[in-house]
Amino acid sequence: FRNGEASEVVVPTPNGRVFFGEHHPIAVIAGPCSVENEAMIVETAKRVKAAGAKFLRGGAYKPRTSPYAFQGYGESALDLLAAAREATGLGIVTELMDAADLPAVARVADIIQIGARNMHNFSLLKKVGAQDKPVLLKRGMSATIDEWLMAAEYILASGNPNVILCERGIRTFDGKYARNTLDLSVIPVLRSLTHLPIMIDPSHGTGRSEYVPPMAMAAIAAGTDALMIEVHPNPAKALSDGPQSLTPEKFDRLVQEMSVLGKVV
Ligand code: PEP
Ligand code: MN
Repeated sequence: FRNGEASEVVVPTPNGRVFFGEHHPIAVIAGPCSVENEAMIVETAKRVKAAGAKFLRGGAYKPRTSPYAFQGYGESALDLLAAAREATGLGIVTELMDAADLPAVARVADIIQIGARNMHNFSLLKKVGAQDKPVLLKRGMSATIDEWLMAAEYILASGNPNVILCERGIRTFDGKYARNTLDLSVIPVLRSLTHLPIMIDPSHGTGRSEYVPPMAMAAIAAGTDALMIEVHPNPAKALSDGPQSLTPEKFDRLVQEMSVLGKVV
């Protein structure tokens, strides 16, 4: 995997190119779990941009455990992400679940997210490998590091070299106090095994907003290249993942705290 040379993933956005990699400042992706309406996504985009984020995240297609839970607004949510991109110049990160939606997702996304539940979906990995948009590949919730790297390899082998690895917490034996176990030890391990940029998602990693800032700080101390953080203007009313979402104010404070540890962009 590791080719001996430091590598980077360079992502063009309306506001300019953003570099992901060990010799670059820490890139921050922030935004709600789900795109809910135009006002909330545009407001969140403006707030996270002002705080220092370079990308807005937001789900249009949501992989929910229950089929009766909110599933995302689909294509209409993609239009709202396009509006937020237009309003702020932020790059857009959004999840692709079904290969049939690839053309629509690729039209608005600057980075295509493959979620934890689809890390083992090899046909989907081959399809995002056969197109040009960079791919953010989350670690499956029970995936070993070798399985995760092989999933990345599916994308690389299909012709797309621009893959970012995102740790989002794994399942261990105690889910009572935190939703998952955020495995920060992957940072030095991946650094030794692969040239691919490393991102940490402390929001899904802990499931609780109050645990997000300390784990974001720890991820920077351990050498992460990037962070993904869920931010919602009114977490108590969020349609998904409210308990783990920071308010824009708390996100702004966190970015300031993070900047003490490492250069954040
Ligand atoms: C998400 O980013 O909102 C998400 C569903 O993440 P994961 O695939 O890590 O659960
Ligand atoms: Mn979420």
